[in-house]
This record gives sequence, C-alpha cells and structure tokens, in this order.
Amino acid sequence: MSLNTAYRKVLDGRSLSDADIRFLVELPDERVPELTRLAHTLRLARFGDRVELCAIVNAKSGGCTEDCAFCAQSVRSRADSPRHGLLPAGEIEAAARAARAHGATRFGIVASGKDVGAKDFEGFVAAVEGVAGLGLAPDLSPGILDQAQLKLLKNAGLQGYHHNLETSASFFPSICTTHGYDEDVRAVRAGLEAGLRVCSGGLFGLGEGWDDRVELARLLASLGVDSVPINFLQPIPGTPLAGREVLAPAEALKVIGLYRFLLPDAAIRLCGGRLSVFGPDAGRDVLGSGASGLMIGDYLTVRGGDVDRDLADIRAAGLRPETITMDN
Ligand code: SF4
Repeated sequence: MSLNTAYRKVLDGRSLSDADIRFLVELPDERVPELTRLAHTLRLARFGDRVELCAIVNAKSGGCTEDCAFCAQSVRSRADSPRHGLLPAGEIEAAARAARAHGATRFGIVASGKDVGAKDFEGFVAAVEGVAGLGLAPDLSPGILDQAQLKLLKNAGLQGYHHNLETSASFFPSICTTHGYDEDVRAVRAGLEAGLRVCSGGLFGLGEGWDDRVELARLLASLGVDSVPINFLQPIPGTPLAGREVLAPAEALKVIGLYRFLLPDAAIRLCGGRLSVFGPDAGRDVLGSGASGLMIGDYLTVRGGDVDRDLADIRAAGLRPETITMDN
C-alpha cells in the first residue's frame, strides 16, 4: 500500500478499497503535504487550473425551528445574529451584482429554515430570475423543496440547488434532533432528479470522527452530487458548539485531500471556516490541496475574507479564477 498506488487508482478511474481509504485516513500529519500535493494533481487533471468562485447572500436570516447545534439561526441558539424575513428581489439582485463585480460566477441565495412557505417561494422565483438576468448562475439554499417546486424554480432560471448533509447519518443525531437525515438525503435526490446541479457537502470539526467523514464522502459519491462544499466549524458564541476547538490545519488539509481522492469528479469548494482554521496567510497552500472552487465574500452569519487577497492567492497558487462575460 502506498499513497502513489491510491493516486494511480483514482487517476485511472478505479475505486479505492476499504484498505486504501484506511491508509489515507491514517496518514501521519507529516505526510499530509504529500496527500494534498497529489490531490492537487488530481484536481488539475479533472478541472484544469480554473477556480470557480461563488458568493452568497443571507437572504432570510434567523428564526429557524430546527436545532442544528452549530447554527447561529437555530431554535437552540442564543447567538447575536441577524434576523430578517426574505429580502426583496431587488436587494438580492444588488448583492449579486456586487459579487459579480468581484468575479463570482455563481451566486447562492441562502435562507434559514427547513421548509418553504408559499410567500417565500414566490420571492425565491423573483430573486432567481433577477440573478439569472445578471448573467450569474443562480443557486438556491432554501431548505427542503419538493419536485414540483424545484421544477418551477428551474423554469425561472435556477441552476443549482444547495442542501448540505453536514455530516454522516451515524453522527447526525448528535447535531440535529428536529428532523431526520433521510429527509435531507431525499432533498438532495429530488434536486438531482429535477436536473439541477446539486451542491451538498459537510461541516467538519463538529466532533465527528474519520469514519463519519468517510461515510459522508461515500454517500455523496453514491448520490452523484456535482459540487461538494467543505466547511469547517467556526464555533459561534451562544450556540451549543461554542466551546469546541477549531480543527488543526493539518487535519483540515487532510479532509480536503481525502475528499478529492474520494470524490474525484466533484467540484470541491472551500467555504465557511477557512479563515478560522488556516488564518489569512495560508490561502495559497489551501488552494493547492485539491479543491477546485472557493466561496468569496462573507458567509451567512460570519464575515469572510478579503476578496482581492483571495484572487491574489489563486494566482500565487498557479491557478486562475473562472470568469464570465458581463453584458449587464
Ligand atoms: S442549519 Fe439551516 S435548518 Fe439547521 S438551524 Fe440553521 S438555518 Fe435551520
């Protein structure tokens, strides 16, 4: 067993065995740079040197009835975070225009809550039409939608449906008790069946183990999701996970490298928590660890990094941001 053997298997389109995966998971920290270097090579082979940039707007914030332990918007949270209903379509469009000026090609409209009422649904349709009109790819993270809703939104121009599974089925009950993991998996399947690009990934550092991380990656691979966001927990005061330590950088890099090996065809994108784990100076190394996309700007309830710095880091890593043609 060697790292190179696992790499060759993935490059040749062969599956990794349980023993291969165990070998990767048990790599000591000092070998993580080897793992991420090969993960980066896999990413170059599949995606070239493009880095897909996306940005989000917190379109509806707070007041959620769910109890996700990490989330500032949950029913269990005492965090001081924004609370507002769905923003008017014009405000969402203005945020998308600003993101486009920074080079984002995809724009995610993110709303708190598990389900979507009729009034918000109409608002989502209007917002999707507005974002699509700017030449950006509209993505939506609205909670759980059914097939009929997904089709209507697709007709309005929706390209991507975001619904993170967050962690493994085994660990999920430690994080959320107000709905079942199977509901989230059904939502992901519904998005895929509607012909949307589905973005579904995880949040790492919740207290899950490596078996949970592998279980989630295997499920995402078997579902065939297009895009896998990698988020790292940034503990938020007032949430049940406020006291958790952030992941060590080597462990977080190993997550990114491992996910590239386990999901070679998925667009793996670095999202929330990147700065709290790696700090502001590690952008170049993090970008060279197997990911193919980056969320720029602010996150949902936490400030993000400096966009110009992200763009400079992309170039320093020998990569280039994917661009769009702007007519508007
Ligand atoms: S992650 Fe989503 S569903 Fe869970 S509490 Fe936060 S807003 Fe609600």
